[in-house]
Amino acid sequence: MISGERRIRRAVVTGGAGFLGSHLCERLLHEGVSVICMDNFLTGTPRNVAHLMGRTGFRVVECDLTGFVHVPGDVDLVLHFASAASPIDYLKLPVETLKVGGLGTLHALGLAREKGARFVLASTSEVYGDPLRHPQREDYWGNVNPVGPRSVYDEAKRYAEALTTAYRNSRDVDTGIVRIFNTYGPRMRPHDGRAIPTFIRQALAGEPLTVAGDGSQTRSICYVDDTVAGVLALARSDLAGPVNIGNAEETSVLELAETIRDLTGSHSPIEFVERPIDDPSVRCPDTTLAAERLGWRPRVPNTEGLRRTIDWFAAELGLTGGRRAA
Ligand code: NAD
Repeated sequence: MISGERRIRRAVVTGGAGFLGSHLCERLLHEGVSVICMDNFLTGTPRNVAHLMGRTGFRVVECDLTGFVHVPGDVDLVLHFASAASPIDYLKLPVETLKVGGLGTLHALGLAREKGARFVLASTSEVYGDPLRHPQREDYWGNVNPVGPRSVYDEAKRYAEALTTAYRNSRDVDTGIVRIFNTYGPRMRPHDGRAIPTFIRQALAGEPLTVAGDGSQTRSICYVDDTVAGVLALARSDLAGPVNIGNAEETSVLELAETIRDLTGSHSPIEFVERPIDDPSVRCPDTTLAAERLGWRPRVPNTEGLRRTIDWFAAELGLTGGRRAA
C-alpha cells in the first residue's frame, strides 16, 4: 500500500512496459500494491518488466489502449502512461501517438470512471512548446505550433489534459495531471534519439557526441527515481494539477554532453549537427507547486543519476568507454 491518506491496493499502469511505466510498476509492487501492466509493446518491451514476472500481484496484459479496454475486479488507481515519448518514436508514429493521446486517454478515463479509481495522466513539459516564459509555471498556456512536426505529441498531450479536465468536471472522475520534464535512467533505449541515451551510447562507443545546434539550448533533467516519487505523491494526493515534476537545475545541451563524456572517461569529440525543427530553446520547470502541495523535490544529484545510468548502459551494451572494466 502507498503510505498517506489514499489506500491503493490495485493499480493499472498503461504503458507499463515502457521506460517510466516499468519503474512505476516496480515501485508500486515494492510498496505492496498489485499492478496490472497494460501495454501493446509499440515502443516498450516485455524485457523491461521481465524481472517482475512471477511476483505476487503482478500481471502483464498485452492490449492496445485505443481499442476495447476491460479489466476485471477492483482498481483504485489508473496511471495513464501509454504513449510514444521520444521524438524519434512519435515522428515515426504520428497517427498512433495522436490516437493514444485521444482514444487511449478516453478509454483509460472510462476505466477509472467504471472502477471509481483515481486517474493520473502522464502529461509533459512539451505542452509548453517553445516557451515564451521562463521558467515554466503550471499557469503558463504554452507556445505550440499546431501543425509543426512535434505537434502530434504536444497537441495529443494538450488534448489529453483537456479530456482529463472534462472527465473531472462533468463525469466526476478523481483526476490528477502531472507534467513531466525530461527524465532519464536505466531502461531508456540506447537508440531512442533522446539526448542522454544518445550521448551515453556515443561516449561509450568512442564515437563523436552529436550536439544539436550550438548546444546552448537548455534542458532540465531528472533522475527516474525522483520522477516516480513525484508521480506517486500526486497519485496518493487529491490534487488535480497540472503539477510540474522535474529538476529545476538547468543545463545546456553542450554542458550535458561534456559531463557525460567526463563521467564515461571517453575521449570522443563533440560534433555539432543540425537542430530539429521546433526544438525548444529553453526548458526549466518551476516546481514550487510540487514542493508546497506534495512535499516533493528531486533528491538524486545529476552526477549520481548519470553515473547509475551510464553503468546500466555499459552493461546493456557491453561497452566500457574510457573507464576500466570492473
Ligand atoms: P516509452 O516509449 O518508454 O513508454 C511508453 C509505453 O507506452 C511503451 O511501453 C509503449 O509500448 C506503450 N504504448 C504506446 N502506445 C500504446 C497503446 N496504444 N496501447 C498500449 N500501450 C501503448 O516512453 P516513456 O519515456 O516511458 O514515457 C511514458 C509516458 O510518460 C508517456 O506518456 C510520455 O508522454 C510521458 N513523459 C515521459 C517523459 C520522459 O522524460 N521520459 C517526459 C514527459 C512525459
